[in-house]
Amino acid sequence: MDFSFSDEQRMVQDSMRAFARAELLPKYTHWDRNDEFPREQWLKMGALGVLGLRVPVDQGGQEADCVTAGLVIEEIARGDFNCCYGILNSCFAGDILGKFASPAVKDTWLPAMASGETVLCVCLTEPHCGSDAAAIRTQAVRRGDSYVLNGEKSGVTLLMVGDAAIVFAKTDPAAGAKGVSAFLVPLDRPGITRHPYSDMGARGIVRGSLFLEDVEVPAGNLIGPENGGFSRVMQTFDYTRALIGLMCLGAAQATVEETVDYLKQRQAFGRPLSTNQGVSFPLAEWSAKMEMARWFCYRTLWLRDQGLPHTRESAMCKMQVPVIAADAVHDCLILHGHYGYTKDFPVEQRLRDVIGQEIADGTPHIMKIIVARDLFGRDFV
Ligand SMILES: Cc1cc2nc3c(=O)[nH]c(=O)nc-3n(C[C@H](O)[C@H](O)[C@H](O)COP(=O)(O)OP(=O)(O)OC[C@H]3O[C@@H](n4cnc5c(N)ncnc54)[C@H](O)[C@@H]3O)c2cc1C
Repeated sequence: MDFSFSDEQRMVQDSMRAFARAELLPKYTHWDRNDEFPREQWLKMGALGVLGLRVPVDQGGQEADCVTAGLVIEEIARGDFNCCYGILNSCFAGDILGKFASPAVKDTWLPAMASGETVLCVCLTEPHCGSDAAAIRTQAVRRGDSYVLNGEKSGVTLLMVGDAAIVFAKTDPAAGAKGVSAFLVPLDRPGITRHPYSDMGARGIVRGSLFLEDVEVPAGNLIGPENGGFSRVMQTFDYTRALIGLMCLGAAQATVEETVDYLKQRQAFGRPLSTNQGVSFPLAEWSAKMEMARWFCYRTLWLRDQGLPHTRESAMCKMQVPVIAADAVHDCLILHGHYGYTKDFPVEQRLRDVIGQEIADGTPHIMKIIVARDLFGRDFV
């Protein structure tokens, strides 16, 4: 058993930590306060290769292993949690397009996404279904050399600034999960409209609803075989769930460290607040829980890198880790007293931001179903 990162991975970790501290953290709250997409940060991340981690080298990416992707997302989250959505989407798109898209689609979209100039979204959820993703109603019908899409997608991260989307649609509505296909849909096509959300957190990543009315895309924009979309997406979600865990831990770790500094300098009853065990023990407990969670996420990514099964472990990461991170940040907010409740510190934003990842990509309930199926067998759950 070897728990060490390679020299190269440690270099990546160090450089990302320095970048996040110098370039991202100072403007973390700016994007939230101004409801602004952090375009300049996207371009900086693109220049450093952060948005091409899972993109093939031929398309301008890094083809990094999943553990390295984990190290990057954890460090970026210390600076700006919401920039991590760029990593999640680009890892997802890099894997799915890199493996299953036509050469033309790959060459058009992946280099531009990796450089940060182009933003890709992932559209699975619909107004009537999120957890039950196989129940989507958006349809794609083959017409000559094209597919024509109709339907509505909801909750889509980065939609309002997106240039293209990976859209999941039914190509065989009677076949349930086995009738779903994935398409690359440029968002400037006729028949597309978008509607923005006003979320409690993650405000810079401008989620929204996508309406598709007779939207035509070339047949070559089908990703993988017809009716093969659902299995692809589920396989990719497997490891991005561990990335989400590390993203939440990065934000929580930054908050714990800021809180330690605050409690050392803030005085009450003539001494630093940290000298009260009621104040220091919660941070000792969160540090222990977060350390255990961190290694579990890295182990899950390592399993993926080894080509070993990791569906159960990924679901465990997604079920537990965002909750641990959100609860840790919540405790830190209380330990800041009333200042924690103001916008003078980033802690209130971190809480709003991290909570979003308790829901996105599947809630803890749905993760419990996946783990329970593994324990009891599908027929007993
Ligand atoms: C920050 C954020 C970013 C997102 N980004 C994207 C994106 O980019 N693309 C995209 O397609 N979607 C995105 N989503 C949507 C997200 O994937 C869905 O919200 C999520 O899958 C849950 O679906 P739902 O909201 O329809 O909830 P529902 O499925 O309606 O569930 C509501 C509640 O019931 C529970 N529940 C449902 N079924 C069961 C069951 N069988 N047993 C027990 N409990 C159950 C759920 O856990 C949940 O608590 C995002 C969401 C958030 C918050």
